[in-house]
Amino acid sequence: MNSNMGQPQAPIQMWPPQTTSTNQQMGPSSTHARCPFCKVDIYTSTSRKATSTAWWSCIILFFCGCVLGCCLIPCCMDSCNVVNHKCPNCGTFMGQYRP
Ligand SMILES: [Zn+2]
Repeated sequence: MNSNMGQPQAPIQMWPPQTTSTNQQMGPSSTHARCPFCKVDIYTSTSRKATSTAWWSCIILFFCGCVLGCCLIPCCMDSCNVVNHKCPNCGTFMGQYRP
């Protein structure tokens, strides 16, 4: 009878809250910026992406019975979408807009 529970576990390393040192704050639409790779002034090409929060909301609504369309509402909401800004020439990721 040797119940050896409660072993101390190593704390899980979380992402540091401030990692956006190189990524500048971008707007929701195409922005005039200088590509760090091409070294030329460009207008960023934007692509919308649903956040993981939106996808989880979709899944939860799906299981709640909102199968037909309703579960897609979070993915269409602006607040659940981020906009990624990339250089149109080389495709370098330049920043992200979070509502
Ligand atoms: Zn570039």
